Amino acid sequence: MTKAYVLLSYVLWPALFGCGLLGAYCAFASDHPLLWFNVVYLSIAAGIALFEYLMPYERDWLAPDGEIVNDIAHTLLTKGAVQVAAAAGATFPILVAMVAQPHVGNDDGLWPTNWPLLLQVALALVIAELGLYAAHRYAHERLILWRFHALHHSVERLRVFNTGRFHVVDSIVKAALSQIPLYLLGAPLPVFLWVGAVTAFIGLLTHCNIEMRTGFLDWIFSTPRLHRWHHSRDATVGNTNYCENVVLWDQLLGTYHNPPYPSSTDIGIKGEIAKSFWTQLTQPFTKEGLRQILGRHKKNNAPVVRERVDI
Ligand SMILES: [Zn+2]
Ligand SMILES: [Zn+2]
Repeated sequence: MTKAYVLLSYVLWPALFGCGLLGAYCAFASDHPLLWFNVVYLSIAAGIALFEYLMPYERDWLAPDGEIVNDIAHTLLTKGAVQVAAAAGATFPILVAMVAQPHVGNDDGLWPTNWPLLLQVALALVIAELGLYAAHRYAHERLILWRFHALHHSVERLRVFNTGRFHVVDSIVKAALSQIPLYLLGAPLPVFLWVGAVTAFIGLLTHCNIEMRTGFLDWIFSTPRLHRWHHSRDATVGNTNYCENVVLWDQLLGTYHNPPYPSSTDIGIKGEIAKSFWTQLTQPFTKEGLRQILGRHKKNNAPVVRERVDI
């Protein structure tokens, strides 16, 4: 292992995250923010994909698993939905404010708009993270949401390609729980854009298959190391590290998992997810599909396989 390799393994996470934020800054200052943000997002994803080949965490994960087309299709569906929401962002806060105003009881809202934008974004990340944490933990502990979230956990290797592999219902629940509190508090649109940018780049990095040494960053942000534990096939290990950006709520609520040895590469679920994109979308809504997701369809009268949820 050369010195350059070791140095890169330390600087790649902050460097890629920093490049993404710098690109987002330029995109948001342009006349076509969403278009340029997409260009930046895809460029960072391409850079991560390149480094996955140059310095992989797990070389076996580089082989095609036949799911790349489905991963990209789910990404486009969920990212597309997020962008429609972002485009409507200019008018949606007004609508929410009209509904919420009698309850909030303050014409200016509660949001500290006089704070520097950096502090507003930090505050918004912590508030949004509580919604993300609640949605994610509930999705692991309750069948009503695990049936959708299982799609994300069905991959047996983590790659940048499967970052956006979420069932659209899963994505909507998370977006609602993380964004609605910010709307009700009166956060301005730039805060939403920056929370979206931070979430996008940290999300790309959490799934990357790159040998990264994140050290003290593991105590602040959701890093690839923490997220690999979260994808562990062993549910007692996997039901940890729910936070998506900053890990504050995992630490406060006792679900932070960061033992002092390399994270497991035995990832996946006990059940089975359908092969085709459309069946993956409909599978959680049918009885047989649910049995497949829970791994209960394999043999008649087979003992019930205990999954991540209690039902
Ligand atoms: Zn999860
Ligand atoms: Zn994941």
